[in-house]
Amino acid sequence: MNTPIKAVGLVSGGLDSALAVAVIRRQGIEVVGLHVAIGYAAGIMRREVAGERLDALLEEEARRMSGSFGTRVLVIDRSTEYLDILLHPRHGYGANVNPCIDCHLYMIREAKRIMEREGARFVFTGEVLGQRPMSQNRAALGVIDRESGLGGLLVRPLSAKLLEPTLPELEGWLDRERLLDIAGRSRARQMALAGELAVEGYQSPAGGCLLTDANYAAKVRDWMAHAAGAPLTREETLLFSVGRHFRLSPTVKIVVGRREVENGYLEREWGRLWLASPVDVPGPTALVQGNATDDDLSVAASFVARYGDAKDAPSTRVAVRRGDESRTYDAAPAPEDLVERTRI
Ligand code: SF4
Repeated sequence: MNTPIKAVGLVSGGLDSALAVAVIRRQGIEVVGLHVAIGYAAGIMRREVAGERLDALLEEEARRMSGSFGTRVLVIDRSTEYLDILLHPRHGYGANVNPCIDCHLYMIREAKRIMEREGARFVFTGEVLGQRPMSQNRAALGVIDRESGLGGLLVRPLSAKLLEPTLPELEGWLDRERLLDIAGRSRARQMALAGELAVEGYQSPAGGCLLTDANYAAKVRDWMAHAAGAPLTREETLLFSVGRHFRLSPTVKIVVGRREVENGYLEREWGRLWLASPVDVPGPTALVQGNATDDDLSVAASFVARYGDAKDAPSTRVAVRRGDESRTYDAAPAPEDLVERTRI
């Protein structure tokens, strides 16, 4: 009996990669799915903030994708390694801080590594020509082909007929005629194909990539402008997804929780720094990062007063703590102009 040809499919958890897997599998190819977790999936970050562990969440993703794709899917955590790509993308950013070309390249190189380890013959992705302005135009796909180190072993089954034939097609491992010619931003062909191939369960609860989100990007850019050589950490990138952020000075920033779960996160994970919260009424927790002066702490207390339940009262009693140190302020709510001037 012939051993089936094996391929590694890079999967995001969305419809396009699910279709790519189905299109390759229907040609009798054995598929190993690979999901590279770079750490900015909104749904995963939300659950981390709520106290769930990243490794458990990624295991859950692997089980869910394996189930819905009907094939083994490996999920690898690259959230720490990826920080360097976020800060120094060779091909620049998209509309926000999304380094999509570098990101695709990184994931495809990871897929190449898994291909070699698994004895697979080629790698494929769910990329669609012309679907995304930055990373899926013809020039960007060409850059990815050249720099990925895969030579002709990178297949885009959904747009293959619009692209040069790849080695798996030339070698006859794949029938080019049974690959597709989808291009552009419309999802109509994909939706029809999902019905035809009975592809379902592809809606990823992991959510969209926060690097494409303008609010999240503002926090990253603010960090870049004020880091002064400090290394970016995964903990910091998770904090960017939490609360309202205000910059008080080049070295001091405060983060005010918006919800109970965010206040809990700040208390749980950031207790080594100054934390402010109201004494007598419900209200937010505020984290103070940087070398805060007494003035900065009293300003942080005024933000707690502004967003607390006693925001209409002349003042709120606010406790500011760091380890064993503790101070109390009778803080008036921060005025509108201060909030607007400092908001990130
Ligand atoms: S949207 Fe995010 S995950 Fe997707 S390629 Fe761009 S940076 Fe990477």
